[in-house]
Amino acid sequence: MAESTVVIESFPVGPLQCNCTILGDSATGEAIVIDPGDEISRIQARLNKLGLKVKQILITHAHIDHVGGALKLKRLTGAPILLNENDLPLLQMMEQQAGWLGVDTPETEAPDASLQDGMTIGLDTLAGQVIHTPGHTQGSVCLLFAPLRLLVAGDTLFAGSIGRTDLPGGNSRQIIDSIHSRLLVLPEETQVLPGHGGLTTIGEEKDRNPFLTRR
Ligand SMILES: [Zn+2]
Repeated sequence: MAESTVVIESFPVGPLQCNCTILGDSATGEAIVIDPGDEISRIQARLNKLGLKVKQILITHAHIDHVGGALKLKRLTGAPILLNENDLPLLQMMEQQAGWLGVDTPETEAPDASLQDGMTIGLDTLAGQVIHTPGHTQGSVCLLFAPLRLLVAGDTLFAGSIGRTDLPGGNSRQIIDSIHSRLLVLPEETQVLPGHGGLTTIGEEKDRNPFLTRR
């Protein structure tokens, strides 16, 4: 039996501790990076250590803590940035977003492509699908890697909670609808890697998440 060649590393970055995820294939030496919000030199050091070259930079939504380091990583790696087009207004509000946190405004530019619902992303050997889940923001997406039984959920679904909807583009009715119609229909054993905090599963959230069990 061949050893598994899949590399999954997720670690919190920046003042808001956004989970940045490296998903790689050690056989091909290729990787994608999801939500490089900050601490790009640390992310780059991990990639170097793992011997992985970045092919895509995927952004679950355009909040500063998720997208703040994307352009820096693109300049270091040459990899394209993908972000759903409905979050372009938020991307253009970076100065205001930095003001909310009292941090310097990171440089940004328009993404290279939009993350469209149903689109295949990732590596040839490690492909995923985009699930558009508006509500936290209008361009929020989750990324499903079905063969790995892994959902990277951004700020849509957390262990025991859901994303806030009081920021521009947020809609509380819509996030609940997105989670029920697009996420809770996934296999219960699917591991959920949220944008902040620890891992959970679809089954666990279906049973116990107080925001989802009360309707
Ligand atoms: Zn967010």
